[in-house]
Amino acid sequence: MKRIGIYGGTFNPPHAGHIRGASYAIAALELERLLLIPSCISPHKTIPSHSPTPEQRAQMLKLAAGESMEVSDIELCRGGTSYTYETVEAIAAQYPDKELVLLIGTDMFLSFLSWKEPARILQKAALGVLYRGDKGELEQIEEQKKTLEAQGAKVYLVKNPVTAISSTQLRRMLIFRCADSFLPESVGNYIRQQGFYGIAKDYRNLPIEELEQVAVSLVKPSRVAHILDCRDTAAELARRWGADELDAARAGLLHDITKALDGPLQLTLSREYGMMLDTFHEKNPKTLHALTGSLVADRIFGENREVVAAIRSHTTGKANMNTLEKILYVADYMEPNRNFPGVEKLRELAFTDLDKALKLGLEMTLKLLKQQGREISPESAEALAFLERSGV
Ligand code: FE
Ligand code: FE
Repeated sequence: MKRIGIYGGTFNPPHAGHIRGASYAIAALELERLLLIPSCISPHKTIPSHSPTPEQRAQMLKLAAGESMEVSDIELCRGGTSYTYETVEAIAAQYPDKELVLLIGTDMFLSFLSWKEPARILQKAALGVLYRGDKGELEQIEEQKKTLEAQGAKVYLVKNPVTAISSTQLRRMLIFRCADSFLPESVGNYIRQQGFYGIAKDYRNLPIEELEQVAVSLVKPSRVAHILDCRDTAAELARRWGADELDAARAGLLHDITKALDGPLQLTLSREYGMMLDTFHEKNPKTLHALTGSLVADRIFGENREVVAAIRSHTTGKANMNTLEKILYVADYMEPNRNFPGVEKLRELAFTDLDKALKLGLEMTLKLLKQQGREISPESAEALAFLERSGV
């Protein structure tokens, strides 16, 4: 019996990860054809603002689809919330003599029993799980497989070695103008032409209220309070130490602008911006967000040199920092959301002796890194040595 694959999702936007995963499944499961099905309204995901319409998502998917793939508008025609059981039953009626395989990722597979009518799905289709093989992932998958098989499910595991990028991350990379390597060219062109995802907007020199909105939309929800409080604290410290308040506020808002990106995406960003990396950053790509953040502040947001420089040194510090650089480093460390032993001392010093506050921050960081057996950045070591030489 020939197999037909079903691959549904919001595809907002469809990207290279989707298409490579799909091609991989076609080969691994010997699918005769694969139906790509954009959802109308997903029960699993909320669609962010500035997103294309469902029809436009389908159009992008058509541009992206490879050989043996076909875009089905079954969920768009049905309208409303797209429940997979309805889709699977409709397709099963269309192909009564084929085996259907519903392709899903690990997260969706693990939460499968919380979907609407899972038993009705399993009656009509096998599950094809695209998994990456991260540490600990396979055990969870095997366990879920057993659970579902006990309920009569048929489950195929398909190892999908493709570097993963989520659509959420991709939308960030689009704003940073670094998404090309993750998108089929035709989809990238279409997105640019239509100006989806806020890509056509000019982000340079935004008024601070607007900058706040954009920054909030680009960081993870859990980081929003941090950047807003960092903005306020930095502005307060600027007032205290005679630095430019607006610069301090802007640097506070933008300092973690790329922090949501994982290590490989940090490296992509540095590469695309033509940045040569030192060995420390090559080995510790997670520390790169200060550098990539400063590049984005410069190239995308058109911030002035002072703001860019402050963001650049906010994680590691450096020798001979200027007042704004010190302020951002310290504000990031002690803004009201921070809670660790010694933070009160740091808060007090921040308003009485900025250099001592900076030194204390650096010392605490280096101590923690040593305890955790992690490498210390040369810049932090130089920053501390400089302060010691200056008699702080
Ligand atoms: Fe940071
Ligand atoms: Fe931060």
